[in-house]
Amino acid sequence: MSTQLQINEVTAKSILNPSRISGVTYAINPYVGCQHACSYCFARFMSRYTGHQGEEWGSFVDVKVNAPRILQQQLRRRKKTTKDPVLFSSVTDAYQPLERRYKVTRNCIEVLSRHEFPISILTKSDLVLRDLDLLGRQSENEVGMTIISLDEKVRRAFESGAVVSKRRLKALQEISGQGIRTYGFVGPIIPELSTAHLEELIRNLAESGVSYALFDRLNIKYGNRPVIEQVLRTHFNKDVTTILDALRPGSLYYEDIRTQIMDYSQQYGLEADIIF
Ligand code: SF4
Repeated sequence: MSTQLQINEVTAKSILNPSRISGVTYAINPYVGCQHACSYCFARFMSRYTGHQGEEWGSFVDVKVNAPRILQQQLRRRKKTTKDPVLFSSVTDAYQPLERRYKVTRNCIEVLSRHEFPISILTKSDLVLRDLDLLGRQSENEVGMTIISLDEKVRRAFESGAVVSKRRLKALQEISGQGIRTYGFVGPIIPELSTAHLEELIRNLAESGVSYALFDRLNIKYGNRPVIEQVLRTHFNKDVTTILDALRPGSLYYEDIRTQIMDYSQQYGLEADIIF
């Protein structure tokens, strides 16, 4: 990323919002934009709806500085008595580097904990370790860590702003060790590039103490194709067509990956949920 990060402090009208992800009732997105700047990110479509049209994904972050206060108000006004889990986050990473300074995620977690809402985190950052004092308060809470590959060249090319995968594994181990439920999210699995260390990754996840791992394939959508193409050309001297072949209906590529995942997971005692 060559451009300088543009940080805007903004106020949100609503922070506890219904999620469009199947099986997830609520999501909290404390930020708009994401410093992790993953090239395959779907959330880039948010730029269009938040006044950032035409700006490079990863070059801006809006910090919802009033989020904890708004959350508190929303929870007080809420009539429903059921307490469905709240996901952090669906279109940003709640533990991107700016969270160290702003603590918007931490303060929202504090509010949810007071109201006894189960919390589900999915992140690429070990900054989540800072908040284990809060996350350890409820047995239903869980922390997931996304890892696409143990190959640092692949990680750096596709997730230039995120921490190295080994740090994420170490964080999972530490969180599991504190009795908090954890899971791994292996995805997107990028044809030819992110499968070289698949066995090692599954073994490492099993050893880290996660309860299960989700596996997902690469999906080309929401405008991520040009960015993926550029990464393939620049870092791997590859044409996107080789990748697209693996994604075509009828391709056996992911069938083979599925078999590998099942075999390695069985070998290392990891519960695997393949979602492609
Ligand atoms: S961490 Fe998630 S939200 Fe952030 S850029 Fe990567 S995929 Fe997108």
